[in-house]
Amino acid sequence: MNVLLLGSGGREHAMAWSIAKSDRLDELFIAPGNPGTDQVGTNVDLNLSDFEAILVFIEENDIELTIVGPEKPLVDGITNFLEEKGHKVFGPSKVAAQLEGSKKFANEFMKENRIPTADFQTYSRDEFDKALKVIKSKGEYPVVLKADGLAGGKGVFICESAEEVEKRLNELKKNDRFEEAAQKLVVEEFLKGDEASVFVISDGKTAKILHYAQDHKRIGEGDTGLNTGGMGAYCPTPIIGDRMLQRVEKEIILPTISAMLLDENPYKGILYCGLMITEEGPKVVEFNCRLGDPEAQAILPSLESDLLDLMDAAVNEKLNTKEVKIDGKYRCCVVMASEGYPLDYEKGKEITGIDDVAEGSLVFHAGTKAEDGKIYSDGGRVLSVVGAGDSLQDSIKNTYAEVKKIDFDNKYYRSDIGTKGLKFIG
Ligand code: ATP
Repeated sequence: MNVLLLGSGGREHAMAWSIAKSDRLDELFIAPGNPGTDQVGTNVDLNLSDFEAILVFIEENDIELTIVGPEKPLVDGITNFLEEKGHKVFGPSKVAAQLEGSKKFANEFMKENRIPTADFQTYSRDEFDKALKVIKSKGEYPVVLKADGLAGGKGVFICESAEEVEKRLNELKKNDRFEEAAQKLVVEEFLKGDEASVFVISDGKTAKILHYAQDHKRIGEGDTGLNTGGMGAYCPTPIIGDRMLQRVEKEIILPTISAMLLDENPYKGILYCGLMITEEGPKVVEFNCRLGDPEAQAILPSLESDLLDLMDAAVNEKLNTKEVKIDGKYRCCVVMASEGYPLDYEKGKEITGIDDVAEGSLVFHAGTKAEDGKIYSDGGRVLSVVGAGDSLQDSIKNTYAEVKKIDFDNKYYRSDIGTKGLKFIG
């Protein structure tokens, strides 16, 4: 079949690489893609907010399945738009994507269906003073403030004091960046524990766990400094053992999929369960409606099943006939970024050493560009390197051995990706 994959990050390069292995694939197009996706398919210059142009491309190129990488087009309703025109799309509908697109929707859904998550209250934009009063009267810190809508990871604040709450509330109210996302505010109880992500594929009725991983969101070693899109990940994470995974399935995944079906919003696509493993058990920190970046780069190379076949089965409500097979290896993914990210950074630096990376390890492009046969940095997160091993320790060692072969001026990467998991191995 002919496939169109939407997106341009490291996640989409990993998805394209995985889809390209499928026997069921005829042609793979990636829009807009990056120099990495161009090696496994054909990049097409389409704007992801121009649904009409995407439709024209689908019809002119006999695309049988469109796969959506990032959250924004999903939350904006691309699945509904294309399905109404008779096309198949892998990714949840606009309402189902509200599990990521609105924190208020997600929290109320979880409360109604007794899915374990943090206690929370929601406030409208003109009730921020009331929110501050309630927080002050409770006096429990840290407390978590969240802009309701998508804010690229920048709309969440963990506040240690009433003063900080006041400052952040003002920021949410006055900063133009939050104009849309902070129309509503969610105030959450701070959950203590270890974070992990479980990735699920669902056809609306049947859900199967793809894999589970741990992300590293902060820019600095030891989880310090600013939040980023993600500086690395590893899988499987020993934070989740077999029994914990069964609890996650029973207490979170199955109730979520069946409640969405009952509500007549069947959840079809990837459900990313961002969890806090607390003393009381697993609790949901966030749902996302797509694969994580950089977790996708670590988990997809571990997948022995045919990703395209699984996605097609999900779209056609036949996931119950498929099995998800994972190899027994650990994988570590290290993101190489431009120094200064997530704030200001320089781009246009020539990247060398990609071809020297050993077989068995992988390089996934993100912010790169190709010119005259050379590759240059072209973004904050430039590329990621993924290595494997029979133990977590080996996968970390093997990955960093390859990271060291890649060079560009102003490169920056964390040297502790994966080490958080080591303390859970007896
Ligand atoms: P955005 O919507 O701005 O893109 P996001 O979806 O990344 O942000 P969350 O995942 O909800 O936002 O929160 C970001 C991080 O903040 C989490 O990964 C977690 O580390 C921390 N966090 C969020 N909620 C809680 C909570 N209730 N208790 C403890 N930590 C939390």
